[in-house]
Amino acid sequence: MSGIPAERYGARLAAARVEAQAAGLDVLCIGVGADLRYLTGYEALPLERLTMLLVPAADGVPLTLIAPRLEATPARTCAAAAAGAVEVVTWEETEDPMALVASRLSEGLGRDASDLRAVAVNDSLRAAFVLGLQRVLPNASFIVASTVLRRLRMRKDADEVALLRRAAQAADRVVLAIANGRLVGRTEADVAREVRERLLAEGHEVSEFSIVASGPNSASPHHDAGERVIQGGEPIVVDIGGQVEGYGSDITRTLWVTGGDATAGPDPEFLRLYEVLQRAQAVASEAVRPGVACEAIDAAARDVITEAGFGPNFFHRTGHGIGLEGHEEPYLVEGNSEPLAAGYAFSVEPGIYLEGRYGARIEDIVVCTDAGGESLNEAPRDLLVVAG
Ligand code: ZN
Ligand code: ZN
Ligand code: ZN
Repeated sequence: MSGIPAERYGARLAAARVEAQAAGLDVLCIGVGADLRYLTGYEALPLERLTMLLVPAADGVPLTLIAPRLEATPARTCAAAAAGAVEVVTWEETEDPMALVASRLSEGLGRDASDLRAVAVNDSLRAAFVLGLQRVLPNASFIVASTVLRRLRMRKDADEVALLRRAAQAADRVVLAIANGRLVGRTEADVAREVRERLLAEGHEVSEFSIVASGPNSASPHHDAGERVIQGGEPIVVDIGGQVEGYGSDITRTLWVTGGDATAGPDPEFLRLYEVLQRAQAVASEAVRPGVACEAIDAAARDVITEAGFGPNFFHRTGHGIGLEGHEEPYLVEGNSEPLAAGYAFSVEPGIYLEGRYGARIEDIVVCTDAGGESLNEAPRDLLVVAG
């Protein structure tokens, strides 16, 4: 069972070719990573041995997936290869895979690969492979492939949104289970372990991160869950995520743990901080619609927080795109004038942090639709006051 129909990969490859032509490229060279998975469905191992998809820009030239001999089976059974959209060519242990790249390109294009002028490689391609390509394509200049693939990757189709929604709803259930479970007396690391187990139990194949930041640790946005023991009378920021069929979840909720003591509830300052934060997160989410610049969503959240006097306490961008990578374009940050479009999926996650005391963050994954922003996360955004 897969959420992305096999024929979709042929359409993506065709679209990538069109983008490569428009950018004046000779070829896209895509190694292991999210771009390869997006274009072929192949979740290849990130080995020191070369796996590489070659997408020549010229119409009619066959697409080649080069893989080490021992990876032949997974390469040949990936969606794009099984559908006949790419031809799989394997190399033996004693062969030079870069020579194979050059010969496949020469054959396909009907001219010497050393004549190629413009090549794009996936942004995360290992330096050793980039240098290898530069050796066999000595006259080419190189750019990162995100410049041509970003437009395709940012705009999620209905099947991709469905996977993001499945991931988000699973993460919602995990956050609520954690909020309703025992917390006081446990270490952050212990709770983080429970988060990871629950994400897997809820259908994630990968549990990627689990931030459990209690008390003063909640003032550090990327706190690494540690040996601190959770007590009554303090907040916990829970920021968790993983992958469902490669597509990410990423949710943050803030709890206040009373330990069952009626006098250990949130103090007035925390309540005020949280009210401002919740308003900022809502205003930013509601500002989402096609044509609005990414930086305007950031400004929407930041203005609310700044007007309330917490401006210096919100020191990260408002959000990041999400899809086959946990952080990808578009970034909701000042200076990014990219207009939102239907299908863009990203986090909206303002935070307010009072160093040494406490902090809070609220994060949803929001999809831009023609009708406006739609949050894929549905867990309540109110401060969750729990006995713990
Ligand atoms: Zn983060
Ligand atoms: Zn997060
Ligand atoms: Zn995030």
